[in-house]
Amino acid sequence: MTLPDARQLDADDALAAFRARFYLPPGAPVYLDGNSLGLLSLDAEASVRRVLEEWKTLAIGGWLEGRPPWFTLAETLADRVAALVGAGPGQVAVTNSTTVNLHQLLATVYRPDAGDGRTKILAFAGEFPSDLYALTSHLRLRGLDPAAHLTLFSSGADGLIDEAALGEALGADPALQLAVLPAVVYTTGQLLDLRALTARAHAAGVQVGFDLSHSVGAVPHTLTADGVDFAFWCHYKYLNAGPGAVGGLYLHPRHDGLQPGLAGWWGAHKGSLFDMAREMTPADGASGLQVGTPPVLGLAALEGALDLAEEAGLVRLREKSLRLTAYLMTQIEARLPTGGADGFRFANPRADRQRGGHVALVHREAARICRALKDAGVVTDHRPPDIVRFAPVALYNSFEDCHVAVERLVEIMASRAHENYPLERSLVP
Ligand SMILES: *Cc1c(COP(=O)(O)O)cnc(C)c1O
Repeated sequence: MTLPDARQLDADDALAAFRARFYLPPGAPVYLDGNSLGLLSLDAEASVRRVLEEWKTLAIGGWLEGRPPWFTLAETLADRVAALVGAGPGQVAVTNSTTVNLHQLLATVYRPDAGDGRTKILAFAGEFPSDLYALTSHLRLRGLDPAAHLTLFSSGADGLIDEAALGEALGADPALQLAVLPAVVYTTGQLLDLRALTARAHAAGVQVGFDLSHSVGAVPHTLTADGVDFAFWCHYKYLNAGPGAVGGLYLHPRHDGLQPGLAGWWGAHKGSLFDMAREMTPADGASGLQVGTPPVLGLAALEGALDLAEEAGLVRLREKSLRLTAYLMTQIEARLPTGGADGFRFANPRADRQRGGHVALVHREAARICRALKDAGVVTDHRPPDIVRFAPVALYNSFEDCHVAVERLVEIMASRAHENYPLERSLVP
């Protein structure tokens, strides 16, 4: 079998020029960790510098005289992010962090006291732990015992979520009020069918919210058309808005008019913010779920980062991302042993419609292989116990990056270089 030539694929890539607008870390010739922290772009750097300059020269005046004004920057950016997740104007807020946004949405939408006997929340057992911590603590805050009110749905024997079984679980318990699910699972990269799951949940009288942290900027969504009740995510992975970048949340318009569960003055109607009224008039839609003054420097980084995503276009980014991960899998299968105790396998689904933005490569030596790769100039990450995540980001990674990553992996396995690294404590039985 002749493998596709990476250089030729790069030469034919309509998005290849975007790579030059990013800072590739000098110590890491091949950076495949954009699903943990996306890289800095020149565009994001320029917008942060602009806001610093505005702060220097305009001081308080920047709130109204900044270009664009700081006062409405969060709303301006929110409407741009809304387009990336299939939401309308006013349906997204750019605010807080991912986990805080989950707390805010639970505080606003979850109604265990409605008197209809529905008090339980269903979540995926393998969800990013912060979400589970938030759900558990939120239940306690409402005076509910998580052991009785949080139902955890586990993956099947292949490590993947069986969506048909999940659909059944959504309809199986008349006490279920809400499900909180991943759009793309952070370990396996499995992409769920948001529309089908939302339809199943709603048919059973259950509300549903999704964590888009591993899909926003990589996978197009149609949240409003799908009828999703709410969603939340971070902007520092595929959207490259910087470490700890301000997060995002989505609220379906059917929930407009709900009082924010966690209220603060920045969620008030913008026209009345400075009335300093004792009673709050919440802004319409998602904007009303903001709490305090937005971190404008952080928002500036998102502004520049969004310019790039919009210019490239999410449909083209998704198409290239699928080709990059498919290329990686083809190379790995052709050049490395699969099966057997020392073999590799993929934890991610193979089908395009079920695959998010990364390849989840399984090996019992995953932790040490990840470290050996890093010292060979290939940045990936390890998710316990046995997954190495390779996340080629369509905006700045090339097919050649994927080719080199596999080349280094082949060299490491041939020389057993990973065995020079001490065993992680967690791997010692
Ligand atoms: C990265 C990530 C988060 C991050 O939460 P923060 O509050 O931004 O730290 C949450 N959920 C998932 C699924 C993630 O991948």
